[in-house]
Amino acid sequence: MIKLILLILCGFVFYSMISGLLRPGKSRRPENRSKEGEAMVEDPQCGTYLPISEAIKANINGQQHYFCSKKCLKEYKKGQEK
Ligand SMILES: [Zn+2]
Repeated sequence: MIKLILLILCGFVFYSMISGLLRPGKSRRPENRSKEGEAMVEDPQCGTYLPISEAIKANINGQQHYFCSKKCLKEYKKGQEK
């Protein structure tokens, strides 16, 4: 019985480590105001995660990107045009 509890505990620790690796840094703390299950997108300019409904969508070089602000969109475009 204790073995089973240990196994579950190990699984839990392993799972938290993996999810921590997949979403490093400031995104580890979930936003309380974002709805459960809403897709989060990453701003490639500043690395901020935000809910897809609040993101500014832009199609750059055939790829869909999401930005937290128009400023980031502008700066990202500028960086791509080099
Ligand atoms: Zn941004």
